[in-house]
Amino acid sequence: VPQGPPSISTDTCTGISEAFKADSHPEKILLGAGAYRDDQGKPYVLPSVKAAELQFVNSGLDKEYAAITGVADFVKAATKLAYGADSAPLKSGSISATQSISGTGALRIGGAFLERFYPGTKKIYIPTPSWANHGAIFEDSGLEVGKYRYYNKDTIGLDFQGMVEDIKTIPKGSIVLLHACAHNPTGIDPTKEQWKEISKAVKEGEHQVFFDMAYQGFASGDTDADAFALRQFIKDGHKPILAQSFAKNMGLYGERAGAFSVVCESAEEKANVDSQIKILVRPMYSNPPIHGARIAAEVLTNPALNKQWLGEVKGMADRIIKMRALLQDNLEKLGSKRDWSHITSQIGMFAYTGLTPEQVATLAKEHSVYCTKDGRISVAGITSGNVKRLAESIYKVTG
Ligand code: PMP
Repeated sequence: VPQGPPSISTDTCTGISEAFKADSHPEKILLGAGAYRDDQGKPYVLPSVKAAELQFVNSGLDKEYAAITGVADFVKAATKLAYGADSAPLKSGSISATQSISGTGALRIGGAFLERFYPGTKKIYIPTPSWANHGAIFEDSGLEVGKYRYYNKDTIGLDFQGMVEDIKTIPKGSIVLLHACAHNPTGIDPTKEQWKEISKAVKEGEHQVFFDMAYQGFASGDTDADAFALRQFIKDGHKPILAQSFAKNMGLYGERAGAFSVVCESAEEKANVDSQIKILVRPMYSNPPIHGARIAAEVLTNPALNKQWLGEVKGMADRIIKMRALLQDNLEKLGSKRDWSHITSQIGMFAYTGLTPEQVATLAKEHSVYCTKDGRISVAGITSGNVKRLAESIYKVTG
């Protein structure tokens, strides 16, 4: 077996974490990790999650295997959260769903499912740029991976025209992957009106849409608002495929709680898809882990805990929004001539600063501030305590 290329390099989160660890600066700042941090920069276990966990740890539940498709209550509650309680396909029983090994696992099941059953061109188009793992997941699933335009570096905004043009011109019946909300890495989401246009373009192309929803609730603090795109596409007659993750919105990162679902033509087709998903999953990992799914199910279905959780999700989203505002404000106060408004117009965990790779390198070398080479910062790494020093460092490297 030949040695593979390094999976840890200075343009990945893991790579910069290594460099950060080795730095002895007392006020070093790490803006790489794709995980939420509190205002003290510490990992955050949601109190609602802790309460749910204690509740069932003390109730003496067994550790038997789940079904191939996972913890049934979890899967039911997860799909309700995404599609909405009054969703037509949910009510008519035409959504096939299974628990997955978090969002990554859902994408991987989706890739394998499409590779085996998708009748059209087995090519999936992802945005430029996209989450770094998307390409590898779909290639390993045996799909071809193409790109559509998404980010406009001149405006540090959405290349809406380019995106729609590309969706319209790729071969008919392709698969189009869309980030449902809080696009990673750019933090740039289409507006509601733009989503409607994108839905039309996907329809015109007779494409299959695949939503990756890794941040429901995390973008705006409202789980329904963040599901707008998915629900709009369904209203427009699409039959989406969906990958859900509870890593960010419940802070269940290492528990690997996620769900994969397919909106089918009918309850009959759903039964067929159910059977095929079981055939796909069984030889991959037999059945998924139960702990995180049980926690998520309790948080989603216990009314008091659910209310508490929604408040905590909003709390996380609001802290991120506040840190964006503080960073922009500090940069402006320093007299920066640049337009930093994109910091607050972007959404979710990440901000695309527009910093060049050279500026990113100087930030690390001279200021001990670490972010990925593409200029993406994890806003979760900003705190009331470090935002001023961060703004000063960015100001110094950008002039
Ligand atoms: N999709 C996107 C866009 C993501 O950013 C992530 C996490 N970084 C995932 C999927 C999957 O995460 P997980 O497997 O931890 O749920």
